[in-house]
Amino acid sequence: MNIILLAPPAAGKGTQASLLTKKYGFKHISTGELLRKSLEANDAVSLEIKETMQAGKLVSDAIILQLIEKEFLVAEQGIILDGFPRNKTQALKYAELLTSLGQEIDYVFYLAVPKAVAMERIFGRRTCPSCGKIYNSRALENKEKCMDCNTALVKREDDTEETFDLRYETYIKETSPLIAFYQEQGLLYEIDASLSTEEVFASIEKVLSKESE
Ligand SMILES: [Zn+2]
Repeated sequence: MNIILLAPPAAGKGTQASLLTKKYGFKHISTGELLRKSLEANDAVSLEIKETMQAGKLVSDAIILQLIEKEFLVAEQGIILDGFPRNKTQALKYAELLTSLGQEIDYVFYLAVPKAVAMERIFGRRTCPSCGKIYNSRALENKEKCMDCNTALVKREDDTEETFDLRYETYIKETSPLIAFYQEQGLLYEIDASLSTEEVFASIEKVLSKESE
């Protein structure tokens, strides 16, 4: 089973991926995690990645594909790709890799969430600097203190409107053409990700169960 998750920032992609992993035993592969894992391996590839990152450059598609290929060899129940492909060039290269492995994509889930909803989710987030607990500002009703340890809550530093705009625009520009690309191949399933975590997961499961009947 090969699944790709496409989603704008704050659509809950990571959460859904881990729910799917827990329930079905799929292997969740995010590019960030792949690179971190590879750096620990301390081999020739990890050295190349280290040098690229230290030079402030992006790790090449070829290397990422090589790392994904390795994961295929140990994944028994299937793979959920999160954060790759990010653009059409990568999608075409990924298709080539799958063909060479005798595999194909089964589902591309597009977690659709309007920008306004995504923004509210990100900017409504407060964390406790002391115990790390995360709150939604709406649920707090203006009590800006941690319910567990009474520390004053803070906003995450990277949660500024500028960084969010940039991430969102980059996503629209690069990733949204993939939606049409996979739609043409009949692989795309659009999921309403503005709903609750449970409802979003239920919609994904509905697609998965329908197809296996
Ligand atoms: Zn706390």
